[in-house]
Amino acid sequence: MSDRQPHSFPSFDSVEDERLHRKQRLAAAFRLFSRFGFDEGVAGHITARDPELLDHFWVNPLGMHFSHIRVSDLLLVNDKGEVVHGTWPVNAAAFVIHSQVHAARPDVMAAAHSHSVYGKTWSTLGRTLDPITQDVCAFYEDHALFDDYTGVVLDLEEGKRIAHALGDNKAAILRNHGLLTVGHTVDEAAFWFITMERSCHAQLMAEAAGTPVLIEQENAELTASQVGSHAAGWYGFQPLYDRIVAEQPDLLD
Ligand SMILES: [Zn+2]
Repeated sequence: MSDRQPHSFPSFDSVEDERLHRKQRLAAAFRLFSRFGFDEGVAGHITARDPELLDHFWVNPLGMHFSHIRVSDLLLVNDKGEVVHGTWPVNAAAFVIHSQVHAARPDVMAAAHSHSVYGKTWSTLGRTLDPITQDVCAFYEDHALFDDYTGVVLDLEEGKRIAHALGDNKAAILRNHGLLTVGHTVDEAAFWFITMERSCHAQLMAEAAGTPVLIEQENAELTASQVGSHAAGWYGFQPLYDRIVAEQPDLLD
């Protein structure tokens, strides 16, 4: 155990190193999404902006189970939705939603979406999450509701409307659909998704059991500054990454 080192934010000597790092984090995020049960048929996608081709992103192959995805399986998709690296098809909804989010938010390096059970259940209520736990304060005044549903997202205009609803926030609840989270790193976007799903679960249980007490505004704002920063989101992912790489090292192939 003596070779274990505390985590530190990575820096890169070359764009190739940075690209490989992003792809490793992305493959690990899919394995974790499977581990947590966020898979449902062919739904769900996480994207990572390429560090050199800034209007291209890496994404999962359509129809490959999250639990099977390796670094070498990831697709690179250009700004027209064409697969320029890889042989599998890309999910049309992944391109339509994520291309517009990446275009509208130059700061966003990664975006995550799936049809996780508690997120989609919460999304049917047409409400944002309330500050009822320390953890959910990461989203306090930092998540939006996309208050519309018109079928599977296949139209770039709808992708634009979702990106507009997201605004400068770290997450959006897509009504009658599910959750969408973004981050400055793949780590951050994936961690926000995992913790937001749990926050939906927590509020559903709390409201089923009674009337949860809200954290008052001043303390919710303070807590948001403590648990909701880009660095906090990145850090939250590190033990999960270590766990999944230890369990499933083939994800790095
Ligand atoms: Zn979806």
